[in-house]
Amino acid sequence: MKVARVSHQGAIRYGIVDDGELVVLAGDPMFAGFDTTGERLPLSDVALLAPVIPRSKVVCVGKNYHDHAAEMGGEAPEAPLLFLKPNTAVIGPDDVIVRPPQSERTDYEGELAVVIGRIAKNVPVERALEYVFGYTAAVDVTARDIQYADGQWTRGKGFDTFCPLGPVIETEFDAGAARVQTRLNGAVKQDAPLSDMIHSVADIVAYASAAFTLLPGDVILTGTPAGVGPFVAGDRLEVEITGIGTLRNTARDA
Ligand code: MG
Repeated sequence: MKVARVSHQGAIRYGIVDDGELVVLAGDPMFAGFDTTGERLPLSDVALLAPVIPRSKVVCVGKNYHDHAAEMGGEAPEAPLLFLKPNTAVIGPDDVIVRPPQSERTDYEGELAVVIGRIAKNVPVERALEYVFGYTAAVDVTARDIQYADGQWTRGKGFDTFCPLGPVIETEFDAGAARVQTRLNGAVKQDAPLSDMIHSVADIVAYASAAFTLLPGDVILTGTPAGVGPFVAGDRLEVEITGIGTLRNTARDA
C-alpha cells in the first residue's frame, strides 16, 4: 500500500493511493490502523505533504555504498556510520530546499528512507524488519563546505529544509529488487541498485536500536550511492525509487 499524508481544504488527511485517487483514512495509520472514512478524493485535489514527520529524529547512515565512499576519497567504515538530522529539516514533495547563506556548496544525496513503525530497542537483526512501517525516498541535503569545515556533520546536514521526504510510504517494499535514481534538471546523476548497500536495512535498524530507542515515525536514511554533486537555486531535483515513486523538489537561495 502507498500511504500518503496530504493537505485537503486546509486539513491534514491520511490516505491510501489507489488508481489516481486517495482512499481517505480515519487517522494516521501508524497509530490508528487502516480504517477508511468512505471518502475518495482525486489526487489532483490534494497536495502531498511529507508522508511522515519524525517523532524525534532522522537517523542517517554515512558511506553505505562502496562507490560513494570511494568518490569521497576513502574506504567505507566497517560498521554503519550513524549521524542525526533534526526533524525540523523535513520537508515534503514539491517543497523548496533553501540554500543557506553560510554555504557555497550544497549537494544532493538521493537515498532510500525507512520509516519506523514500532518502538525499537535492542532489536535483533532477524526481527528488525518487523519494526519497519514502510519506505519512502529522501534527499540527504548536505552543505558540503560546512560539513568539512566543522569536522562533524550536524550543522552541514541539519539546516531547515535539508531532509525532503516522499512522495508516499510504501508498506510492501522489497529493497533487494529496487533501484534509487537521482536526477538534476532531468539529467541522471545517481543510479544504483539498493542491493549495493553495504549494510542492509535490517542491519541498520538493529545497529541503531542498540544505541538509541527508535520511536514510531522516526526515519532512517540509508546512505547514498556514487554521483553526489552540487545544486544551485532554480535547480530541479528528483529522487525515484522503484515501487515507491518520485520525490520532486526545487531549490532557492535564502
Ligand atoms: Mg547521505
